[in-house]
Formats: sequence, structure tokens, C-alpha cells
Amino acid sequence: MDDFPDHTADLFDQAAERIGRVYEQAMLTRSPFHLSPCGGCGGPAFQQPCSLCGYYPMGGPDPRQPATLDQFRRSVENSMPGGTGNLATWYFGNFRKTVAYKPHSSYKAKVDDLIAEAARMTDLPNADAVWQHVVVEGNRIRRPGVPAEALFLWSAVFETVHAFDRADEDMSRPSYYGSNGSYSTSVYVPTGLRDKAKEGARLAVQAMHGDDDAWEPAVDTLSKVISELKSLRARWVPEGNLNSAQGNLDKVREIRAEAAAPAP
Ligand SMILES: [Zn+2]
Repeated sequence: MDDFPDHTADLFDQAAERIGRVYEQAMLTRSPFHLSPCGGCGGPAFQQPCSLCGYYPMGGPDPRQPATLDQFRRSVENSMPGGTGNLATWYFGNFRKTVAYKPHSSYKAKVDDLIAEAARMTDLPNADAVWQHVVVEGNRIRRPGVPAEALFLWSAVFETVHAFDRADEDMSRPSYYGSNGSYSTSVYVPTGLRDKAKEGARLAVQAMHGDDDAWEPAVDTLSKVISELKSLRARWVPEGNLNSAQGNLDKVREIRAEAAAPAP
């Protein structure tokens, strides 16, 4: 059923791609977006617990009422005030339930921006079409797999950008041991370096969204950030993670060089 030859399948693929890209540009992390029938209620689901019925397979046997089209329709519509929600606002709206969504958090700001952008998206399949495709016909909606170089680049982006998240976590503790063994009450995180890491990640996302000219600057920028992070010898960024991130960037370079080499 995955190779749905009908043009309507394109609409679902395109919607998944558009929703995934909006997420990746905002979050600088690979989008996990997909939809498949929930094991509990049978409705369209993208996570566990299910947003419609709360089904969670590890939580033990817990029979659920089957979801109804009307319930799904209302859930999508009510993801925006005035019942104007769409598939994207419904999906991003569920991020409001996560623990990181708290007042004044940068995560909340990003999710709010995502929802605002999602509200402007048009031509997404409506609740009835999604229900028909996923629940009635039993299809999954997902983005196509990515080539190896993109997987390596995503890993490098993850390690590089999230090194700074770890620094923020360390900073939120009352005190910590510095790398030289002495007590320290603050973590030194150069702002310029954080911005450079984000810039590298943005270029990487741009590259993976089809801008071929962005691959090289993305890899170069992220490599520079990694070598600067290494020279800091900060406790919040384990050297092993940096080495593995650099190894992934080297693989991206290798794969791209091989692809560019003239055939023998
Ligand atoms: Zn469910």
C-alpha cells in the first residue's frame, strides 16, 4: 500500500515533507513526523501516548474505544481558536503538552512560532482525507528516507547544537566542578560560538532541503565549531561526542567527493 500510484498520495507525501521541513528549520533537528493507525483506537497517530486516546503500549493492557472520524475532525479543527485548525496545527499543537513547554522557555517560543506558521499553511489534506488514507485504507504517511550523507550530517548537527543545551543544563545547577577539578559556579559559553553552531546547523538544514551549494559551508562551519569547542576543554561538552561529530562530517565529505568524482 506504500506505493500508492494515485495523485492523492502525493498530497500526503507533500504535506509530510512540508510539515517536516517547517519543524527542521525551527528546531534544527530531524523531524520525526509520520502518521499511522494507533494500536489502541485505530485513529491517525504520530506518537505514543496517542494524542487521541492516550494509548501507550508499554503501559499494559488498556482497551480503548475506537476513535471516530468526528472525534478526529474536532481534534484537528480545535487545534486553533475558532475551529480553524489544520493537520499541521494539530500536530505542532501537541507539543504544548510536553514538559519542556513552560512559560518563558525557548522551547515554548519555538513551538508557538511553529503553530503560527502552521496556521498559515494551505493545501494540507483535511481531517477526512487523512482519516480515509490512514484509518480506512491503512496507509502510513511518512517522508522518504534520506541518503547516508544526510544521516551523518544530522548526527553532526545534533552533537554540535546540543552541546550548548548541555552547557545550559550545567549552568542551571548551583555549582559544578570545572574541567581542572576546581569548583566553579558558572559555565563559560562563548556567545559567538553558539551563534556559529546555529548558523552551521541552519546551513545543514538548507543543504538537506535541497540547496546543493549549502553542503560545503555547512560542513566547514560545523567543523570549525567542533575544533573551537575542543579547544575549550569544557566539561559540558564530552570530547568523545565532538570526535564522533567530526567523524560524521568527514564521512559527509567523503561521500560527496566520491559522488562528484568522474566515473572511471
Ligand atoms: Zn489512539
